[in-house]
Amino acid sequence: MLNPQHILSISQHLISNICTLKGGAGLAYIPGLFMHVKGKSGKNIINKHRALTRFDPQVARAIEAEVRRQQDKIILIASENYVSQAVLEAQGSVLTNKYAEGYPRARYYGGCEHVDVVEELARTRAATLFGAEHVNVQPHAGAIANLAVFLAVLKPGDRVLGMGLDHGGHLTHGSPANISGKYYQSFSYKVDPRSGYLDMEEVRREAHKVSPRLIIAGASSYPRIIDFAAFAKIAQEVDALLLVDMAHIAGMVAVGLHPSPVPHAHFVTSTTHKTLRGPRGGMILCQNQFARAVDKAVFPGIQGGPLMHIIAAKAVAFKEAQTEDFYNYQEQILKNARVLAQHLKELGFELVSGGTDNHLLLLDLRGKGITGRDAELLLDDLGITTNKNAIPDDPQNRMTTSGIRLGTPAVTSRGMQEAEMKQIADLINKAIEGRGDARVMARVKREVKNLCAAFPVISEKII
Ligand code: PLP
Repeated sequence: MLNPQHILSISQHLISNICTLKGGAGLAYIPGLFMHVKGKSGKNIINKHRALTRFDPQVARAIEAEVRRQQDKIILIASENYVSQAVLEAQGSVLTNKYAEGYPRARYYGGCEHVDVVEELARTRAATLFGAEHVNVQPHAGAIANLAVFLAVLKPGDRVLGMGLDHGGHLTHGSPANISGKYYQSFSYKVDPRSGYLDMEEVRREAHKVSPRLIIAGASSYPRIIDFAAFAKIAQEVDALLLVDMAHIAGMVAVGLHPSPVPHAHFVTSTTHKTLRGPRGGMILCQNQFARAVDKAVFPGIQGGPLMHIIAAKAVAFKEAQTEDFYNYQEQILKNARVLAQHLKELGFELVSGGTDNHLLLLDLRGKGITGRDAELLLDDLGITTNKNAIPDDPQNRMTTSGIRLGTPAVTSRGMQEAEMKQIADLINKAIEGRGDARVMARVKREVKNLCAAFPVISEKII
């Protein structure tokens, strides 16, 4: 913590960049950049990171604005979260200065003894957490983790079968816009358009028709539990390898609140920044028989030097994920998602598949007469951030869509619980039903502001 007297006597230049906030708890304010300290007046002031403010006020101001956005809006984007102070500190550490191409004890650079410790911690913690035989923590992102599996076991032109993008799958599971659909022959399976659920018989039929070398299970906007054992059986029937991308559900899997794909799949990929609440990045879990191929695919196959500061932050996140607090957090994410879903349904919203088993909800807005894009814009303007999302067989194009996707990981990190979920459902309903009515809009905006103020984002309170 900085000394308040010192802060108050710094240069005019810096003082001009200090701002006053109402409320606050005297703890570190969000993510590392700002700290609450008591000024002479007794008011809480926020002191910005001084070197950055002094050298590059433009970047500092943009970061400050983002801090406020994260504080002042209700973040319902299912793939976003607030990390802890410990994760941020590791991520913002001097490990960013270090080159470490290769793997622990087999590097192409000297001076790797400390980063070796960090990478070993990350690998062994992730292996323990998920019960995996082998882990690679170097992928810079979830997309890279998926591509590395492709590179490890496929030849260009091989067939892959994944969930269709407009049915909840991810771009990297074979979309023609992505390398996974350009360099490989990709095929997709769908959800049942009436129920919104995956139909495993349809997956089986597609798999037998296509004879893929790799089947991909996992999704970006599928609110139901995926039957990994059924996928494994189908993969075995057609002699395919199975990749499960658990990016969205990794936090719940880590604590056992969601079935784990690890016993069933040859490869499991994940991002580390969604429900797992680590730094932005990816990882690959695999069986020992594929360890060498996976490691070679990540480096030197796709990447150069690993981001050691990010790997350190991953190690911290994996340690956090072993705590009871993290278990409780995941449990609350699920409770919150269910209450949000239930209340929205009571308010006349249609949910794809009728509800949720995980942290995310997919709203079909056709009955409300608004597109996904317009709902996203309307809600964001009022302080509720969501993302437009295709519903299965969406009649609208990808930039318009008929749905929005909501998720509870970020609001749960702030400490919001069931009562707040009901309030948020009411706010969404009021905003959509009352659009065009300036008085309703002003009321919703005010209520969002008050709700955010009641749940300050204090990263030291996270874990
Ligand atoms: N896999 C799934 C299921 C995702 O939802 C996402 C991102 O949203 C990714 C992979 C890609 O992750 P990244 O953005 O880190 O590349």
